[in-house]
Amino acid sequence: MAQKSDCVFCKIIRSEIPAQKVYEDDFVFGFKDIAPVAPIHCLFVPKNHMDSLVHLEDLNLMEKLYKALLLVAEKEGLTKTGFRSVINTGTEGGQTVFHLHLHLIGGRQLSPRMS
Ligand code: AMP
Ligand code: ZN
Repeated sequence: MAQKSDCVFCKIIRSEIPAQKVYEDDFVFGFKDIAPVAPIHCLFVPKNHMDSLVHLEDLNLMEKLYKALLLVAEKEGLTKTGFRSVINTGTEGGQTVFHLHLHLIGGRQLSPRMS
């Protein structure tokens, strides 16, 4: 597992590697996913590193992440059409980057099945 300093999302937050920012406040950073699975695919991450949802200590942070997601969803017109928000957690949960992140996926018809 990456150390805090070499974590790819920490590097994005510190502007050490580029990303297309869609949202920022004191606690949350939002940016476009580098390998989008739909026309709109953004990630919302806490600025403080934590490996996954399992490591979340302050539930208020979820409110901040979802507020940011809903703002961008609204801006992109997804609150009218629908979208998916998902947090993959741990290896069997499909998590590949071990810095907690919330996906916003939309802009096309998504399958009801999550495999
Ligand atoms: P997960 O599988 O839930 O851990 O999702 C990790 C996501 O991070 C994947 O959708 C990747 O495409 C995305 N990702 C990995 N590296 C970057 C990067 N440098 N910039 C933007 N998104 C990234
Ligand atoms: Zn990190």
